[in-house]
Amino acid sequence: PAVRAQTPALATRRKSRQVMVGSVPVGGDAPVSVQSMTTTPTADVNATLQQIAELTAAGCQIVRVAVPSQDDADALPKIAAKAPIPVIADIHFQPKYVFAAIDAGCAAVRVNPGNIKKFDDKVGEIAKAASEAGVPIRIGVNAGSLDKRLLAKYGRPTAEALVESALWECSLFEEHGFRDIKISVKHHDPVVMIQAYRMLAERCDYPLHLGVTEAGPAFQGTIKSATAFGALLAEGIGDTIRVSLSAPPVEEVKVGIAILEALGLRERGLEIVSCPACGRAQVDVYTLAQEVEAGLKGFPVPLRVAVMGCVVNGPGEAREADLGVASGNGKGQIFVKGEVIKTVPESQIVETLIEEAMRIAEERGVK
Ligand code: SF4
Repeated sequence: PAVRAQTPALATRRKSRQVMVGSVPVGGDAPVSVQSMTTTPTADVNATLQQIAELTAAGCQIVRVAVPSQDDADALPKIAAKAPIPVIADIHFQPKYVFAAIDAGCAAVRVNPGNIKKFDDKVGEIAKAASEAGVPIRIGVNAGSLDKRLLAKYGRPTAEALVESALWECSLFEEHGFRDIKISVKHHDPVVMIQAYRMLAERCDYPLHLGVTEAGPAFQGTIKSATAFGALLAEGIGDTIRVSLSAPPVEEVKVGIAILEALGLRERGLEIVSCPACGRAQVDVYTLAQEVEAGLKGFPVPLRVAVMGCVVNGPGEAREADLGVASGNGKGQIFVKGEVIKTVPESQIVETLIEEAMRIAEERGVK
């Protein structure tokens, strides 16, 4: 998708190092990427690849798979080879799975060296293997699994505790000269999360993976993620995002893309500008907006369509739309770039808008 690195109204983007997650650059001047995580057992190669295909179709650019067992590690070569987007292996404790993921051709590994060090200190060997393979590592600090030492020091997973943990984890790799790192510091509370990322952004130049962890079911998780990511991205902080929802991962991708579109960090596809309706509305705006959205789903060019409930304010309110309708007296005034081009009966509004949208697509060279 066409993307802008930053819109002028947002703060200048924080300067970060760039890492390559397979073919997808993260950090530096790379557009903010959207990622998600599969929910299938990774050892079930077909189901996992199927879900990765669905995520890719929804616009996901990087996918993470959990690797809690040897069977999962054994599945990685096939998954990494066949997935259409870069695959990140998510590993908690076992260094042998990290080596397996690198050998399997995974594009990156999420692992916290602090965990590795506690059980079997292979951090230096991991740094060497990752470096030789050109595989970056994501250090992912989560409020729920914060190091006991820091929990004792701060009493609870504060923003300071998350940042101290992340920078300490980084230092374990830096000791071995490894800096191909991106970081997340996730918390379920957007306010603490925002504070943590702000602090982290000041204290290092690693690219940052934004996430509100355990954000909740779809509605609440969407609000929390949009609020937190919106605040940070508007400040120029954040290089890749993952929305966490207790919902199918395709929903996470849709929300992630919509957040970037809303901030102007990614060119919008179809945008429906519909009025909230008020006492002047002469048509069922909600249904009409839904029908227009459904009729133009997957439209091949960026398009802003206005659906307005009345002819009093409608055309004026929607002047910046490519195309729109303002309803009144059982009819719809169809307008293009603010000019009324025809008036049709209410029953023909949706089909007329779709026809006009097709005409616009043809004008822009898309059949
Ligand atoms: Fe009300 Fe008309 Fe504005 Fe819709 S377009 S909110 S119906 S005044």
